[in-house]
Amino acid sequence: MKILVLGGGIGGMAAAIKLKQAGHAVELVEKSEDWKALGTGLTLSVLTLRALCDLGLQDEIAAQGFVHDGVDIYDQQGNFIRTVLSKRVIADDFPSEGAILRPVLHDILSKKVQEQDIPVFLGDSVSEIRSSLEHGNFVKFESGREQHYDLVVGADGVFSKLRQLLMPEQAAPEYTGQACWRLQFDRPADIVRGRMFQSETMKVGFNPCSPTQMYMYMMECVPKEKVWREPEDLPRIAKLLLQEFEPVLKPYIDSINAETPIIYRPLERVMVNGDWHRGAALLIGDAVHATTPHLGSGAGLAVEDAIVLSQVIDQFGNNLEKVFTVFMQKRLERALFVVETSGEIGRMEIAGESMMARSMLLAKGFEQVTTAYL
Ligand SMILES: Cc1cc2nc3c(=O)[nH]c(=O)nc-3n(C[C@H](O)[C@H](O)[C@H](O)COP(=O)(O)OP(=O)(O)OC[C@H]3O[C@@H](n4cnc5c(N)ncnc54)[C@H](O)[C@@H]3O)c2cc1C
Repeated sequence: MKILVLGGGIGGMAAAIKLKQAGHAVELVEKSEDWKALGTGLTLSVLTLRALCDLGLQDEIAAQGFVHDGVDIYDQQGNFIRTVLSKRVIADDFPSEGAILRPVLHDILSKKVQEQDIPVFLGDSVSEIRSSLEHGNFVKFESGREQHYDLVVGADGVFSKLRQLLMPEQAAPEYTGQACWRLQFDRPADIVRGRMFQSETMKVGFNPCSPTQMYMYMMECVPKEKVWREPEDLPRIAKLLLQEFEPVLKPYIDSINAETPIIYRPLERVMVNGDWHRGAALLIGDAVHATTPHLGSGAGLAVEDAIVLSQVIDQFGNNLEKVFTVFMQKRLERALFVVETSGEIGRMEIAGESMMARSMLLAKGFEQVTTAYL
């Protein structure tokens, strides 16, 4: 089939790689001119790490990211509470979770795209699409180019243009009332798995994400409306938010300055109501199921979508009606579980519900996403 993948993020690149490997003629179109990933670390939950390994990236992630078996949990004074270890589901001799710097993962994936000679069109997007199972997709691009494709895969993220064009009835992304902070630090040699500090109201953690780096994560509740912050204000606000952890995190708090890589991002949620396809076009990843990062599994879901799509096309060929039906059967429930469970943990954090109740739901969520997806 001739396939357009719209969006060169994690899900779009995964789809392009898998579909090209399966012998299809794939084109990738990405809106940004420079095609770079911003951000610090990406948590590789069991779900996300396994999906990336299934894509063939195990060696690269082991070398350039950081893999480990779990997290040590402390209170805000630094008293050890417990260690939570994950089950090894990828291989007996390979840990099941970890983290990686987003730009590093982007480089690994984009190299694979280039190695496979997938044509990549940067700085362009879809302006019009007519899509039907009978006639395929007639696509007009913002550049003026016009093409016909048998299948269009939309992986253009949480604010998906393709979703707006194909599914104008769907609600816009919903602000969740929380913002995510990530700060990057040099990794001390003794941080070799996750390390989390929790108070009754907040948790802060470190995740090793490269041989030399780690990042700190924390979630801020900003319930009423989205607050954008100027980059120069971020170090000062981060220090304020971390105050209650000063007894145990003082050296890190003191070291935060204008040079510290800091990401602050208000969080949106999307869960498309009903099918993820219209005509001969299918949406995957954040375009249809953007989750908050409480389970560290949004990127993994997008990669799983790509792998399952390629597998279902192998099975049913260009019978897209069948492909989409089976794809939805395999993907909807799992994506819904992650989006809803993550959303519920966030809601409990905003409502100030007990750390015990939140930890129990988190543990249930992690256990569920460890289950196989293929
Ligand atoms: C703050 C934060 C922290 C997160 N942390 C984690 C984590 O630790 N672990 C995890 O697994 N997940 C995490 N996620 C979720 C994860 O980032 C997403 O689920 C994942 O990036 C989804 O991939 P995607 O390809 O669907 O979308 P994206 O990664 O958003 O990629 C979309 C791509 O499409 C391009 N694009 C956009 N519009 C157009 C257009 N009109 N035409 C063409 N191209 C377009 C964009 O430039 C981009 O390249 C986090 C999300 C957030 C917001």
